[in-house]
Amino acid sequence: MPHYDLVIRNGIVVDGSGAPPFRADIGVVGDTIARVGDLSGSTAEKVIDASGLVVAPGFIDIHNHSDTSVFLVPTADNYVMQGVTTIVVGNCGDSPAPLTERNIDAFKDSEKRLVEALGEIPWRTFSEYLNALDKLEKSINVATLVGHGTVRSAVLGFENVKPSARELNEMKTLVEEAMKAGAFGLSTGLIYVPSMFADTREIIELAKVVARYGGVYATHMRNEGVKLLDSVIEAITIGVESGAAVEISHLKASGIPAWGNVSRALAIIEDYVARGYDVSADAYPYTASSTSLSALLPSWVREGGVRKMLERLRDPSVIDRIEREFEEHGVMEERYLLWSQVVIAYSETHKEFEGMSIADIAEKLGLSPVKAVARILEDDGGRTTVVIHSMTEEDVIEAISHPLVAIGSDGSVKRFGEGKPHPRNYGTFPRVIARYVKELKVLSLPEAVRKMTSLPARKLGLWDRGLIRPGFKADIVVFNYYTIADTATYTNPHQFPKGIRYVIVNGSVVVDSGMHTGLKPGKLLRKVMY
Ligand SMILES: [Zn+2]
Repeated sequence: MPHYDLVIRNGIVVDGSGAPPFRADIGVVGDTIARVGDLSGSTAEKVIDASGLVVAPGFIDIHNHSDTSVFLVPTADNYVMQGVTTIVVGNCGDSPAPLTERNIDAFKDSEKRLVEALGEIPWRTFSEYLNALDKLEKSINVATLVGHGTVRSAVLGFENVKPSARELNEMKTLVEEAMKAGAFGLSTGLIYVPSMFADTREIIELAKVVARYGGVYATHMRNEGVKLLDSVIEAITIGVESGAAVEISHLKASGIPAWGNVSRALAIIEDYVARGYDVSADAYPYTASSTSLSALLPSWVREGGVRKMLERLRDPSVIDRIEREFEEHGVMEERYLLWSQVVIAYSETHKEFEGMSIADIAEKLGLSPVKAVARILEDDGGRTTVVIHSMTEEDVIEAISHPLVAIGSDGSVKRFGEGKPHPRNYGTFPRVIARYVKELKVLSLPEAVRKMTSLPARKLGLWDRGLIRPGFKADIVVFNYYTIADTATYTNPHQFPKGIRYVIVNGSVVVDSGMHTGLKPGKLLRKVMY
């Protein structure tokens, strides 16, 4: 009689491929799915009765920012409880390595709590960072990208400069080191300092290195507002010229003048896919985004890094100039945001402002909105984050329902109860099923699961995850289709979703009957070339 470490019996398997559901048992040996089928004659160390429940591959979050927070909360509760078994970090141009004397101080400034927790940053190179991540006991698998902003700051600092040929070669070497160590690709954050100072040519040169290793070029594009389509063309051009696969991160049309453009962006992507290029995107199922408060300021204010930005903001003539520019071009790179659309998510020094809009805070302080922003940034050392209500549901539906769009939360591992983070940190994956499958009916369940499993796995080259198949790693989520729902809201975000019954990571049960078991079977995943 066959014997398994774990058998999941009687579930309805949605296998991640997009195929229709079927009834089957799943037998796990060690960290691997050994059999899928009728296992009624078998015995097992542990049996999960999945009668009436859906059994799917664990969700893969292709766009995540837990690069350092996973060191602070290695149980990754807010992700594991959503059924997420793998996160991809290093997005938006920002990874915690490579560090050199040019960017280490700024890194320590921005990662105050990591420094407090670890005492010293135990890595400099990307390879050393991966080794630290490998050693860390964690509940979730982690795959990494190397951030272009970090690579650029390691060589050039945070100024608006072009690299010399020698400096560009140094950057290429750093990207190559990261790829060799096991990064899955390179990310840019073209609205952030210093990634934004790169021209298209610079990124193509670096993406060529990524292409040699079969990696992905993931991009937070230069403009997600009225110039969205130009940005999509730039992203695809980088892929076409370098040979790297392109992942457009958190596809959206932000700010009222840009609304309606997501379907146009998708039409451009489809066109290139039809011509044989590997281009796709990801999105999260919400009409608000979230970023650092400083990202709203014009780029000339942010040039040189956070310390220089704070210095400038102390100059009243700078405040005047920002106010004039916002009046002319709107807040945040022509997005024409209103200050009422921008809400503080996390402030170290102003807990009383968390959940309040800049408009309301400005009124309360008796200051102009820009002066209020400057005050909060000064007090927080630039580390304030915001939620921005800037999208329309029609565009979100376009993105979420499109077959080339995977689901990425754009969130990070959180300390329970801290701040008012975007609800996507707790609800993204269950919400795709609750709202876009069950409520709005713009997606089938197998298709929704495919977007959260095999689609991102295939994009990254995670060849042994993202499907329920013999030989694949046993990353599995078991949920109740009828009750699965996100419960996190903008006003009350620290709430785990409903309906997630079991989460299995590398064969170990991390969520058992809806409760985190505390087990830490997560692995660092390194890109392997075949
Ligand atoms: Zn981003």
